[in-house]
Amino acid sequence: MIEIVNDYKKASFGGSIKNAISFSSKLGEMAMRVSRNKLDARYDSQIRKHIEKMNSGKFRIFRHIYIETINRCNGGCRFCHANRFTDKREMELMDEGLLEKILKELKEMEFKGWISFHRNNEPFLDKRIFDFVKMMRESMPDALINIHSNGTLLNIEKIYRIMPHLSFLNINNYNDKLELHDNIRETVEHFNRTNEFDGLIKVCLRKENEILLNRASSAPNRKMGYTMKSPCLYPFEQLNVCSNGNISICCNDAFEDVVLGNAGEQTLEEIWHGEKFKDIRDKMLMDRNLIKICGKCDIITPPTRNPNEND
Ligand code: SF4
Ligand code: SF4
Repeated sequence: MIEIVNDYKKASFGGSIKNAISFSSKLGEMAMRVSRNKLDARYDSQIRKHIEKMNSGKFRIFRHIYIETINRCNGGCRFCHANRFTDKREMELMDEGLLEKILKELKEMEFKGWISFHRNNEPFLDKRIFDFVKMMRESMPDALINIHSNGTLLNIEKIYRIMPHLSFLNINNYNDKLELHDNIRETVEHFNRTNEFDGLIKVCLRKENEILLNRASSAPNRKMGYTMKSPCLYPFEQLNVCSNGNISICCNDAFEDVVLGNAGEQTLEEIWHGEKFKDIRDKMLMDRNLIKICGKCDIITPPTRNPNEND
């Protein structure tokens, strides 16, 4: 079965907040402030302990790499600065040679974490995505490879092409009435009949116009942010490769405000263990406000597992 997730139905605190902030900016802002401050206080010391453990011994490699092979999205999500109305990037496709270099390095380091072919984009806009994912799979048979897509370009045939090489496909079906788009409905019905790719595809019902976190103060429909005390784990765990090879600070830095290296010019390990990343991590531990883009960002990153694991 393909799981269809509707988080707005949850009768939990989180579910109520999600509903409250969906469309009402005033009520939403109040609810958001309460919930962010609560989470910030709850997780601050947990996150710090988690980072302390990571730092004991050799600082470990990233546990998640995001690769953006095309820096474009056809979506219109009002909470996302990469939406087709507000994206200010020059259109760019990743050079194939660069992808091969990344793949070679991941293989050599026997990378065990997640490899995601998405960042601030719609991966299926890049027609080469099928070959890229296949190439990654053939080179790293046990790798955890996933894609988050808005599903607009998907159909049954494309799912058959991509799924043999993916570990997981997440489809965000954006519709304010929470209705499935026709192509997604057909896909779900088909694979629920055939029982193929069971548990490997998830469809999330999402609202295009909802108000969410401010994503490094860049969400077009929500600039307001609060000063969080807890450090953000992303620079300790994620490596984000933009289509031009630049490594941005995190998945929310769509427009590369903070560039920490370039995957075409340095190795991934050099960048990850390099001075620029180290400086960002030191500042993050002292006070996230020391990093301009993080100062008003209301992302909080509860640790989810053993800091010494990398898968
Ligand atoms: S959230 Fe995803 S689908 Fe929506 S505009 Fe941003 S990148 Fe596109
Ligand atoms: S706090 Fe900084 S590193 Fe973390 S998500 Fe926000 S902008 Fe990115």
